[in-house]
Order: sequence, then C-alpha cells, then structure tokens
Amino acid sequence: MMIERKVTRGVKVGGVTIGGGALISVQSMTTTKTEDVKATVLQINRLQEAGCDLVRVAVKDQAAAKALKSIKSEISIPLVADIHFDYKLALSAIENGADKIRINPGNIGSNDRVLKILDKAKERSVAIRIGVNFGSLHKKYREMGGGPARALVESALEYGAFFEENDFIDFIISVKASTPTETIEAYTNLSTKTNAPLHIGLTEAGTLLFGSVKSSVVLGVLLSRGIGDTLRVSLSDDPVHEVRVGHKILAALDLRREFVEIISCPTCARCEVDLTKLAREVEERLAGKRIPIKVAVMGCAVNGPGEARKADIGIAAGRKEGLLFVSGKPVKKVAEAEMLDVLVETVLEMGGRDKFDRKR
Ligand code: SF4
Repeated sequence: MMIERKVTRGVKVGGVTIGGGALISVQSMTTTKTEDVKATVLQINRLQEAGCDLVRVAVKDQAAAKALKSIKSEISIPLVADIHFDYKLALSAIENGADKIRINPGNIGSNDRVLKILDKAKERSVAIRIGVNFGSLHKKYREMGGGPARALVESALEYGAFFEENDFIDFIISVKASTPTETIEAYTNLSTKTNAPLHIGLTEAGTLLFGSVKSSVVLGVLLSRGIGDTLRVSLSDDPVHEVRVGHKILAALDLRREFVEIISCPTCARCEVDLTKLAREVEERLAGKRIPIKVAVMGCAVNGPGEARKADIGIAAGRKEGLLFVSGKPVKKVAEAEMLDVLVETVLEMGGRDKFDRKR
C-alpha cells in the first residue's frame, strides 16, 4: 500500500521546501549553547552528516541571536531560530540570517509585536513556524472545553488566520500535546482544517529507547494517514539519534529512503552463525552512507532466502557460511568470517563509493 500524502502549501526555508509535495524533511535541534559558535557548528555538522535537513537552535538572548550570523556562515543547511516571549529576539534572529523562526504567538504578547515579526520576516523572505504547545496555551483556549487537542487546534488556526489576514502565508504549523493520543488527535483534526504544511513530532518524548518508540507510534500513525511535511523526533540524548530515528521511521513507511536499511531476523535455534553480531557490524560499517537500498541479513534456510531475495542485497546464512543474493539472484557462497566484508563491499559497489561515501 502506498501512502497518499495530503497536499499542502509549499513553504521555502532556505534551500529546503516544506510541504507542496516535497520530500518529508527531518529536523533536529542543537543542545549546545547557541552563543558557543564553535560547539554549535560542530554539532550541526554532525547532524547534517546523519541526514538532518534543517536545524533549530534556541535563541534565548541577544548574544544567541547575534551568534546566528557566524553559525550561518559556517553551515550549509537552513537555520531555524527558536524564540519565546521576546519579539525583539525574533527580529534580531531574522536580521542575523535565520531562514525560519519558530514562535508561539501566544507568548509573544500583543498583536502589534507579532505584526512587527511578520513584517520583518516578509522583508527577508523568512518562514515562520507557529509552534503551539499545550503547556504554553493562552488561558482562553485552555478553558474553552473539548479537551487539549481541540484547544491546540483552535489556537493554531486562529494564529494562522491572523497571519493570512496580514498577507503572510509562509508559515508552518505544529500542535504538540503532552500525550501521544492527544497529539495524534490534534494533528488529525488540524490537517482537515488547513492546507498549511505541518511540522509533526511528540514533545518531551523521553530517553533513547522509550522516546523513539513513542515517537514512532505517533509519527507512524500520522504519516500513514498522509499527515506531516517535516518532522522532529525529540529525545533526551545526542540529537544525532533524533535524525537517525526520523529517517528510519520514514524508510519503514516507504516515504523516504536515503540510507542503507538493514533487515535482519531475530535468530533462533536454527541459526548457525553469530547473526546478531553480523547485523550490528553491517549497520555500524554502513552508518552515514547515503545509499538508499535494503540489505537483508538472515539466519537460516527457512526464511532466509525468501527475505534475502526481496532485498537489494541479502545474505542467507547456513552452516558457518551464507548465500549472497544481489538484486534477488543468488551470487555466491561466502564463509562466515568473510560475510561482513563481502556484504559491506557489495553495498558500497552498488551505491558507488565516490558518490555516496560521506566526508567524516
Ligand atoms: Fe530462525 Fe531462520 Fe527465522 Fe532467523 S530466518 S529467525 S534463524 S527461522
């Protein structure tokens, strides 16, 4: 089954388009102090290498806003400034080169202040994300009845209407509730009421394992309904994991494949090789390689050949050896000790080393 994506309005953020049928982009956010330009640039480069399409940094004071200029000059993916409370920080972030700013209009203050941001963003062709979180919703919405999802959607739509009334349409919306089910409900309702592109994600998802599981559930449901133009997986960990998990979610749904996808069996008593180790090592050796193919690492002759045949490259292990498949056809037998190198070499050959080997 192919997922039919909802067509939204396309919004340009630097060199990346969000919505309008463009590939679903993967975002992350730095954890360094933004004013520490060296550390921030270093982290952004690691994120880009992992497949981050656009990156957000927190701008909590003027020192951070001014640092954007230097950061921007040293990176090659669009830069998003995350602003709360102070409209002057938004103006300064735009002046210092942000490609997009994320604000929650509800905590910026009067409409006059929001209008000043819209004017400056228009002048510099900068996009804005209306990022509404339940925790920071205006009292009026929190008390309107109908639950958190309704409050988030109504609030976001009202801000969207205000932007449009003031001739600003380059905006993206996010509505992040505190729980997975409320987040799914909010985005599902929102997508029926706007054609603005949607940034999807689960806020405060958690640590690496549980956070990835919760994010996969929420994003999986939304994406399978055709909802979502850009995503962020939020994790209490190295943000590089956020990017990797984001890409894996998209690949699992066949929405976007940029990297090698490893398919491996859980192993059982039939397996005669150390398959878990082999699968892990293949994954490690191929991490970061932009080769969009499926590699199957299977443990025995029961399901192995079938799965290996379906993948672009596969190995079906037998007694201390394996049968290598390429494009569905058996190619040769490989001794257990050689499997790792042969698989990696075959993948690199298929991908074209020079084209796909990324700078380390
Ligand atoms: Fe067991 Fe073979 Fe299935 Fe792997 S492919 S889980 S070894 S039956």
